[in-house]
Amino acid sequence: MSSRVLPQFDLLQPRNVADVVALLSQHEDQVSILSGGTDLLVWGYIEKHKTPYVLSLSAIEGLDNLDYVAGEGLRIGAKVKVAQLLKHPDVIKRYPALYEAAVNFATPQIRNMATVMGNVLRASPAGDCSCAILALGAQVVLQGSAGQRLVAIDDFWVSYGVTERKPDELAVELRIPDVTSETRSGFQRLTRVHEDLSKLNVAVRLEMEQGTCKQARIAMGCVGPTPLRLKKTERLLTGAKITAELLQQIVASAREEVTPIDDQRSTAEYRRQVSGVILKRVIEQALAKS
Ligand SMILES: Cc1cc2nc3c(=O)[nH]c(=O)nc-3n(C[C@H](O)[C@H](O)[C@H](O)COP(=O)(O)OP(=O)(O)OC[C@H]3O[C@@H](n4cnc5c(N)ncnc54)[C@H](O)[C@@H]3O)c2cc1C
Repeated sequence: MSSRVLPQFDLLQPRNVADVVALLSQHEDQVSILSGGTDLLVWGYIEKHKTPYVLSLSAIEGLDNLDYVAGEGLRIGAKVKVAQLLKHPDVIKRYPALYEAAVNFATPQIRNMATVMGNVLRASPAGDCSCAILALGAQVVLQGSAGQRLVAIDDFWVSYGVTERKPDELAVELRIPDVTSETRSGFQRLTRVHEDLSKLNVAVRLEMEQGTCKQARIAMGCVGPTPLRLKKTERLLTGAKITAELLQQIVASAREEVTPIDDQRSTAEYRRQVSGVILKRVIEQALAKS
Protein backbone atom coordinates (compact mmCIF):
# COMPACT_ATOMS: atom_id res chain seq x y z
CA MET A 1 0.00 0.00 0.00
CA SER A 2 1.35 3.43 -0.87
CA SER A 3 0.87 6.51 1.29
CA ARG A 4 1.89 10.14 1.16
CA VAL A 5 2.62 12.31 4.14
CA LEU A 6 2.86 16.00 3.36
CA PRO A 7 5.70 17.93 4.99
CA GLN A 8 4.72 20.44 7.65
CA PHE A 9 3.81 23.94 6.49
CA ASP A 10 1.87 26.96 7.74
CA LEU A 11 -1.39 27.48 5.86
CA LEU A 12 -2.10 31.10 4.92
CA GLN A 13 -5.73 31.93 4.08
CA PRO A 14 -6.02 35.56 2.96
CA ARG A 15 -9.48 36.93 2.12
CA ASN A 16 -8.60 39.35 -0.68
CA VAL A 17 -6.02 39.92 -3.40
CA ALA A 18 -4.34 42.81 -1.56
CA ASP A 19 -3.63 40.50 1.39
CA VAL A 20 -2.32 37.80 -0.97
CA VAL A 21 0.13 40.28 -2.49
CA ALA A 22 1.22 41.49 0.96
CA LEU A 23 1.88 37.90 2.10
CA LEU A 24 3.70 37.01 -1.13
CA SER A 25 5.88 40.13 -0.76
CA GLN A 26 6.65 39.18 2.83
CA HIS A 27 7.50 35.51 2.20
CA GLU A 28 8.53 35.57 -1.52
CA ASP A 29 9.80 32.14 -2.68
CA GLN A 30 9.01 30.56 0.72
CA VAL A 31 5.33 30.27 -0.33
CA SER A 32 3.47 27.83 -2.59
CA ILE A 33 0.15 29.11 -3.95
CA LEU A 34 -2.62 26.53 -3.62
CA SER A 35 -5.64 26.75 -5.91
CA GLY A 36 -7.45 23.51 -6.85
CA GLY A 37 -4.47 21.51 -5.58
CA THR A 38 -4.66 18.86 -8.33
CA ASP A 39 -1.02 19.52 -9.22
CA LEU A 40 0.32 21.02 -6.04
CA LEU A 41 -0.87 18.29 -3.70
CA VAL A 42 -0.64 15.34 -6.05
CA TRP A 43 2.67 15.31 -7.85
CA GLY A 44 4.85 15.87 -4.79
CA TYR A 45 5.25 19.56 -5.53
CA ILE A 46 5.20 20.66 -1.90
CA GLU A 47 7.58 17.85 -0.97
CA LYS A 48 9.94 18.89 -3.75
CA HIS A 49 9.92 22.60 -3.03
CA LYS A 50 9.51 22.25 0.76
CA THR A 51 8.09 25.75 1.16
CA PRO A 52 7.33 26.55 4.81
CA TYR A 53 4.12 28.37 3.78
CA VAL A 54 1.20 27.34 1.59
CA LEU A 55 -1.12 30.16 0.58
CA SER A 56 -4.62 28.96 -0.21
CA LEU A 57 -6.87 30.97 -2.53
CA SER A 58 -10.00 29.24 -1.19
CA ALA A 59 -11.17 32.07 1.15
CA ILE A 60 -10.75 34.86 -1.41
CA GLU A 61 -13.94 36.49 -2.59
CA GLY A 62 -14.08 36.96 -6.36
CA LEU A 63 -11.53 35.79 -8.95
CA ASP A 64 -14.32 33.49 -10.18
CA ASN A 65 -15.46 35.65 -13.11
CA LEU A 66 -15.98 33.97 -16.49
CA ASP A 67 -17.25 36.67 -18.84
CA TYR A 68 -17.38 37.26 -22.56
CA VAL A 69 -17.65 40.86 -23.80
CA ALA A 70 -18.12 41.47 -27.54
CA GLY A 71 -15.17 43.44 -28.90
CA GLU A 72 -12.98 42.50 -25.93
CA GLY A 73 -13.10 38.73 -25.61
CA LEU A 74 -13.17 36.20 -22.80
CA ARG A 75 -11.95 36.83 -19.25
CA ILE A 76 -11.25 33.87 -16.97
CA GLY A 77 -10.71 34.62 -13.28
CA ALA A 78 -8.00 32.75 -11.38
CA LYS A 79 -10.50 30.56 -9.48
CA VAL A 80 -12.53 29.40 -12.51
CA LYS A 81 -12.64 25.61 -12.63
CA VAL A 82 -12.17 23.64 -15.84
CA ALA A 83 -15.72 22.25 -15.41
CA GLN A 84 -17.18 25.77 -15.63
CA LEU A 85 -15.91 26.13 -19.21
CA LEU A 86 -18.17 23.26 -20.26
CA LYS A 87 -21.33 25.12 -19.29
CA HIS A 88 -20.51 28.57 -20.62
CA PRO A 89 -22.43 29.37 -23.84
CA ASP A 90 -19.75 31.74 -25.20
CA VAL A 91 -16.95 29.24 -24.59
CA ILE A 92 -18.99 26.57 -26.39
CA LYS A 93 -19.93 28.84 -29.30
CA ARG A 94 -16.90 31.10 -29.77
CA TYR A 95 -13.90 29.23 -28.35
CA PRO A 96 -14.16 25.58 -29.48
CA ALA A 97 -10.43 24.99 -28.87
CA LEU A 98 -10.86 25.82 -25.17
CA TYR A 99 -14.14 23.93 -24.90
CA GLU A 100 -12.63 20.80 -26.48
CA ALA A 101 -9.59 21.03 -24.17
CA ALA A 102 -11.97 21.12 -21.19
CA VAL A 103 -14.11 18.24 -22.51
CA ASN A 104 -11.04 16.06 -22.90
CA PHE A 105 -9.46 17.13 -19.59
CA ALA A 106 -9.16 14.30 -17.04
CA THR A 107 -12.32 13.19 -15.20
CA PRO A 108 -15.36 15.08 -13.84
CA GLN A 109 -13.85 14.95 -10.33
CA ILE A 110 -10.59 16.56 -11.46
CA ARG A 111 -12.39 19.09 -13.70
CA ASN A 112 -14.45 20.18 -10.68
CA MET A 113 -11.29 20.90 -8.65
CA ALA A 114 -8.72 22.02 -11.24
CA THR A 115 -8.56 25.66 -12.27
CA VAL A 116 -7.73 26.90 -15.76
CA MET A 117 -5.18 29.27 -14.21
CA GLY A 118 -3.53 26.43 -12.26
CA ASN A 119 -3.04 24.63 -15.57
CA VAL A 120 -1.24 27.68 -17.02
CA LEU A 121 0.84 28.37 -13.88
CA ARG A 122 1.93 24.73 -13.62
CA ALA A 123 3.88 25.42 -16.85
CA SER A 124 3.76 21.82 -17.99
CA PRO A 125 4.14 21.03 -21.69
CA ALA A 126 1.23 18.57 -21.28
CA GLY A 127 -1.34 21.13 -20.06
CA ASP A 128 -4.49 20.81 -22.19
CA CYS A 129 -6.06 24.19 -21.37
CA SER A 130 -2.58 25.72 -21.70
CA CYS A 131 -2.31 24.39 -25.26
CA ALA A 132 -5.68 25.90 -26.25
CA ILE A 133 -4.86 29.18 -24.48
CA LEU A 134 -1.58 29.45 -26.39
CA ALA A 135 -3.34 28.92 -29.72
CA LEU A 136 -6.03 31.46 -28.80
CA GLY A 137 -3.36 34.09 -27.98
CA ALA A 138 -4.25 34.93 -24.36
CA GLN A 139 -2.66 37.34 -21.92
CA VAL A 140 -1.99 36.58 -18.24
CA VAL A 141 -2.82 39.37 -15.77
CA LEU A 142 -0.42 39.44 -12.81
CA GLN A 143 -1.06 41.46 -9.66
CA GLY A 144 1.95 42.34 -7.52
CA SER A 145 3.16 44.98 -5.10
CA ALA A 146 4.07 47.25 -8.05
CA GLY A 147 0.54 46.96 -9.50
CA GLN A 148 -0.89 45.00 -12.39
CA ARG A 149 0.89 43.87 -15.56
CA LEU A 150 -0.12 41.84 -18.57
CA VAL A 151 2.14 39.17 -20.08
CA ALA A 152 1.43 37.65 -23.48
CA ILE A 153 1.10 33.88 -23.23
CA ASP A 154 3.79 33.60 -25.93
CA ASP A 155 6.28 35.02 -23.39
CA PHE A 156 4.83 33.52 -20.21
CA TRP A 157 6.43 30.05 -20.01
CA VAL A 158 10.18 30.31 -19.55
CA SER A 159 11.01 26.60 -19.23
CA TYR A 160 9.54 23.44 -17.74
CA GLY A 161 7.62 24.46 -14.58
CA VAL A 162 8.92 28.05 -14.73
CA THR A 163 6.90 31.15 -15.66
CA GLU A 164 7.41 34.91 -15.89
CA ARG A 165 5.49 35.35 -12.61
CA LYS A 166 7.55 37.13 -9.95
CA PRO A 167 7.47 35.75 -6.38
CA ASP A 168 5.28 38.63 -5.11
CA GLU A 169 2.71 38.28 -7.92
CA LEU A 170 -0.62 36.49 -8.06
CA ALA A 171 -2.01 35.53 -11.47
CA VAL A 172 -5.52 37.00 -11.31
CA GLU A 173 -7.02 36.65 -14.79
CA LEU A 174 -6.59 35.23 -18.27
CA ARG A 175 -7.73 37.40 -21.17
CA ILE A 176 -8.45 35.74 -24.48
CA PRO A 177 -8.90 38.06 -27.47
CA ASP A 178 -12.25 38.29 -29.21
CA VAL A 179 -13.10 36.14 -32.21
CA THR A 180 -15.01 37.01 -35.37
CA SER A 181 -17.54 34.97 -37.33
CA GLU A 182 -14.57 33.91 -39.52
CA THR A 183 -12.38 32.65 -36.66
CA ARG A 184 -12.02 28.88 -36.46
CA SER A 185 -10.38 26.97 -33.63
CA GLY A 186 -10.00 23.41 -32.44
CA PHE A 187 -8.14 21.07 -30.08
CA GLN A 188 -7.30 17.36 -29.98
CA ARG A 189 -5.10 15.22 -27.78
CA LEU A 190 -3.66 11.72 -27.58
CA THR A 191 -3.44 9.83 -24.28
CA ARG A 192 -2.66 6.27 -23.18
CA VAL A 193 -6.01 6.12 -21.32
CA HIS A 194 -8.54 8.91 -20.98
CA GLU A 195 -7.67 9.66 -17.34
CA ASP A 196 -3.99 10.15 -18.17
CA LEU A 197 -2.12 13.34 -19.07
CA SER A 198 -1.66 13.96 -22.80
CA LYS A 199 1.20 12.40 -24.69
CA LEU A 200 0.54 14.95 -27.43
CA ASN A 201 -1.93 17.81 -27.72
CA VAL A 202 -2.60 20.31 -30.49
CA ALA A 203 -4.73 23.45 -30.80
CA VAL A 204 -5.18 25.93 -33.64
CA ARG A 205 -6.74 29.33 -34.17
CA LEU A 206 -7.32 30.31 -37.82
CA GLU A 207 -8.55 33.69 -39.04
CA MET A 208 -10.29 32.87 -42.33
CA GLU A 209 -11.57 35.17 -45.10
CA GLN A 210 -13.44 33.70 -48.05
CA GLY A 211 -11.61 30.41 -47.80
CA THR A 212 -8.17 31.96 -47.32
CA CYS A 213 -6.30 31.73 -44.03
CA LYS A 214 -5.28 35.28 -43.09
CA GLN A 215 -3.55 34.38 -39.85
CA ALA A 216 -2.79 31.14 -38.02
CA ARG A 217 -1.68 30.20 -34.52
CA ILE A 218 -0.66 26.58 -33.92
CA ALA A 219 0.09 25.31 -30.40
CA MET A 220 1.45 21.87 -29.63
CA GLY A 221 2.15 20.25 -26.27
CA CYS A 222 4.44 17.38 -25.15
CA VAL A 223 6.90 18.13 -27.95
CA GLY A 224 9.21 20.50 -26.06
CA PRO A 225 9.87 21.81 -22.53
CA THR A 226 6.78 24.10 -22.66
CA PRO A 227 3.76 24.22 -24.99
CA LEU A 228 5.18 25.38 -28.34
CA ARG A 229 4.04 27.62 -31.19
CA LEU A 230 4.86 26.04 -34.57
CA LYS A 231 5.72 29.33 -36.27
CA LYS A 232 7.28 27.93 -39.46
CA THR A 233 4.22 25.79 -40.06
CA GLU A 234 1.95 28.76 -39.31
CA ARG A 235 3.69 30.68 -42.11
CA LEU A 236 2.68 27.98 -44.62
CA LEU A 237 -0.96 28.65 -43.74
CA THR A 238 -0.82 32.44 -43.72
CA GLY A 239 -2.35 33.89 -46.89
CA ALA A 240 -3.08 30.44 -48.32
CA LYS A 241 -6.15 28.46 -49.36
CA ILE A 242 -6.14 25.32 -47.23
CA THR A 243 -6.02 22.55 -49.81
CA ALA A 244 -5.27 18.84 -49.44
CA GLU A 245 -1.82 19.51 -50.92
CA LEU A 246 -1.08 22.27 -48.40
CA LEU A 247 -2.20 20.02 -45.55
CA GLN A 248 0.37 17.42 -46.66
CA GLN A 249 3.10 20.10 -46.51
CA ILE A 250 1.86 21.05 -43.05
CA VAL A 251 2.14 17.45 -41.84
CA ALA A 252 5.79 17.37 -42.99
CA SER A 253 6.58 20.82 -41.59
CA ALA A 254 5.18 20.05 -38.12
CA ARG A 255 7.29 16.89 -37.92
CA GLU A 256 10.39 18.97 -38.63
CA GLU A 257 9.53 21.72 -36.18
CA VAL A 258 8.79 19.72 -33.03
CA THR A 259 11.47 18.76 -30.48
CA PRO A 260 9.97 15.83 -28.53
CA ILE A 261 11.71 13.54 -26.03
CA ASP A 262 11.15 9.97 -24.82
CA ASP A 263 9.33 9.72 -21.50
CA GLN A 264 6.96 7.36 -19.67
CA ARG A 265 4.00 8.37 -21.87
CA SER A 266 5.52 8.00 -25.33
CA THR A 267 8.63 8.06 -27.46
CA ALA A 268 10.12 11.00 -29.29
CA GLU A 269 9.83 9.11 -32.58
CA TYR A 270 6.11 8.37 -32.14
CA ARG A 271 5.37 11.95 -31.11
CA ARG A 272 7.23 13.29 -34.15
CA GLN A 273 5.36 10.95 -36.50
CA VAL A 274 1.88 11.74 -35.18
CA SER A 275 2.41 15.48 -34.61
CA GLY A 276 1.71 16.36 -38.25
CA VAL A 277 -1.22 13.97 -38.58
CA ILE A 278 -3.00 15.27 -35.47
CA LEU A 279 -2.36 18.85 -36.56
CA LYS A 280 -3.95 18.11 -39.95
CA ARG A 281 -6.98 16.59 -38.21
CA VAL A 282 -7.38 19.58 -35.89
CA ILE A 283 -7.26 22.01 -38.83
CA GLU A 284 -9.88 19.95 -40.69
CA GLN A 285 -12.02 19.77 -37.55
CA ALA A 286 -11.77 23.55 -36.99
CA LEU A 287 -12.67 24.33 -40.62
CA ALA A 288 -15.65 21.97 -40.55
CA LYS A 289 -17.34 24.25 -37.97
CA SER A 290 -19.19 27.27 -39.28
C1 LIG B 1 -5.63 12.46 -11.86
C2 LIG B 1 -5.20 13.71 -12.55
C3 LIG B 1 -5.50 13.87 -13.89
C4 LIG B 1 -5.11 15.04 -14.55
N1 LIG B 1 -5.43 15.16 -15.87
C5 LIG B 1 -5.07 16.28 -16.53
C6 LIG B 1 -5.44 16.44 -17.89
O1 LIG B 1 -6.13 15.60 -18.49
N2 LIG B 1 -5.02 17.55 -18.53
C7 LIG B 1 -4.26 18.51 -17.91
O2 LIG B 1 -3.90 19.50 -18.54
N3 LIG B 1 -3.93 18.41 -16.60
C8 LIG B 1 -4.32 17.32 -15.90
N4 LIG B 1 -3.98 17.19 -14.58
C9 LIG B 1 -3.16 18.23 -13.92
C10 LIG B 1 -3.98 19.32 -13.16
O3 LIG B 1 -5.28 18.88 -12.87
C11 LIG B 1 -4.05 20.64 -13.93
O4 LIG B 1 -2.79 21.14 -14.26
C12 LIG B 1 -4.89 21.71 -13.19
O5 LIG B 1 -5.37 22.64 -14.13
C13 LIG B 1 -4.12 22.46 -12.10
O6 LIG B 1 -5.02 23.39 -11.51
P1 LIG B 1 -5.17 23.50 -9.92
O7 LIG B 1 -6.15 24.59 -9.67
O8 LIG B 1 -5.46 22.19 -9.32
O9 LIG B 1 -3.70 24.01 -9.57
P2 LIG B 1 -2.82 23.79 -8.24
O10 LIG B 1 -2.43 22.37 -8.10
O11 LIG B 1 -3.48 24.44 -7.07
O12 LIG B 1 -1.57 24.69 -8.68
C14 LIG B 1 -0.77 24.35 -9.81
C15 LIG B 1 0.39 25.35 -9.92
O13 LIG B 1 -0.08 26.65 -10.26
C16 LIG B 1 0.24 27.60 -9.23
N5 LIG B 1 -0.92 28.49 -9.16
C17 LIG B 1 -2.23 28.13 -9.18
N6 LIG B 1 -3.00 29.21 -9.22
C18 LIG B 1 -2.19 30.28 -9.21
C19 LIG B 1 -2.39 31.70 -9.26
N7 LIG B 1 -3.63 32.23 -9.33
N8 LIG B 1 -1.33 32.52 -9.28
C20 LIG B 1 -0.07 32.00 -9.23
N9 LIG B 1 0.20 30.68 -9.18
C21 LIG B 1 -0.85 29.83 -9.18
C22 LIG B 1 0.49 26.76 -7.99
O14 LIG B 1 1.32 27.42 -7.06
C23 LIG B 1 1.15 25.52 -8.61
O15 LIG B 1 2.49 25.79 -8.91
C24 LIG B 1 -4.39 16.06 -13.86
C25 LIG B 1 -4.11 15.91 -12.49
C26 LIG B 1 -4.53 14.75 -11.84
C27 LIG B 1 -4.24 14.62 -10.39
